Amino acid sequence: MVATTKGSEQPIRERLNLRPIINVSGTMTALGASIIVPEAIKAMSEIASQFVEMDDLHRRASEVIARLTGSEAGFVTASCASGISLSLAAAITGDNLLAIENLPDRTEGLKTEVIVQIGHMVSFGGNIDQAVRLAGGKVIAAGTVSAVNDYHVADAINDRTAAALYVVSHHTVQYGMLSLPEFVAICHAKNVPVIVDAASEYDLRTFLQQGADIVVYSGHKFLGGPTTGIVAGRKDLVRATFLQNRGIGRGMKVGKESIAGVMAALEAWEHRDHDGIRRRERAALDLWKNTLEGFAGIEALIVPDPTNNPLDRLEVNVRPESGFTAAGLAAALARAQIPIIVRNHEVERGHFFLDPCNLHPGEAETVTREFHSLLSAKERPADAMLVPQKSTRNVRNWPD
Ligand SMILES: *Cc1c(COP(=O)(O)O)cnc(C)c1O
Repeated sequence: MVATTKGSEQPIRERLNLRPIINVSGTMTALGASIIVPEAIKAMSEIASQFVEMDDLHRRASEVIARLTGSEAGFVTASCASGISLSLAAAITGDNLLAIENLPDRTEGLKTEVIVQIGHMVSFGGNIDQAVRLAGGKVIAAGTVSAVNDYHVADAINDRTAAALYVVSHHTVQYGMLSLPEFVAICHAKNVPVIVDAASEYDLRTFLQQGADIVVYSGHKFLGGPTTGIVAGRKDLVRATFLQNRGIGRGMKVGKESIAGVMAALEAWEHRDHDGIRRRERAALDLWKNTLEGFAGIEALIVPDPTNNPLDRLEVNVRPESGFTAAGLAAALARAQIPIIVRNHEVERGHFFLDPCNLHPGEAETVTREFHSLLSAKERPADAMLVPQKSTRNVRNWPD
């Protein structure tokens, strides 16, 4: 079927020939990020048909970000990834408008080195190293994958150092790295600003309190805003980030609807029923755990979020007695009548996770029924013992 956007009363996914999915994976760019909160949807649709002076809208957004994060100022970008590039560009150019136009390659005379602990050189779908280079920065990798000491960072700082980048995420190596307060102390002793990628972190204040000069969040993850990034921190650096709109930021510009939407999502976050949401998520986890406990070769554990967000997930360990590998069971779930997409980034270790953050009413029960029917069936699918493989074939064939 060919997609058509012609007028019709059909729901949009049907109209566009997109299948429904149940997202127990998390807030994933590839699955459409998060469920946008009603307050943000309302603000986006209200502003869509209005003209506004964009610098003023950005000023209002700065006020909201400053209030929520405790920062001096804030700036909305197209995404956290672009917020990382633009705030690093800010550290490189300051408010020099000619330098801003000269990025990313004409950087003679500017400090361009950006220090990153090797265990923080992650991919979140794009590589953080490229986000640095896009800004005209040069990555200086500090330490080793399994251990970083104070001198690895301190001795990497020199008169070409523009900034240091710190990543808070389950994607990073979770041991042996410097803590943020240690990292900040080393960098600030030599006047190097610290930029923190906190894309998926719920805590809007602690990293700034720990001394970060800039913290960057995703607007479309836990906040349930439209696709955006939120840059919060020192006013001079936030201003220089804003000024990148006259340079490399132009190709990553954010529209009025996204700014208004993320402002509304931030304000809604203040009033959200966090305890009620936690209870509903816990109920889903308990339901799944109780269902899975009866099956041979399956062990289900409720585990806390690795970076201490107020969020638990279910770790589903799949042993051969179940007749499945973790990858095989995940693949079978993804073939359900409504495909169920699990969090499978560690599937080669024999487990996947179920994330309860993005469920619509009734979906937790659908997941339970599907587990039940797969695990209690006499037959196993042909690929039940699937060994995970890295394949880029599908993406290379796009749009076919
Ligand atoms: C999701 C994520 C990003 C990218 O965020 P976008 O807003 O989608 O660009 C960057 N860093 C980390 C650690 C992430 O988890």
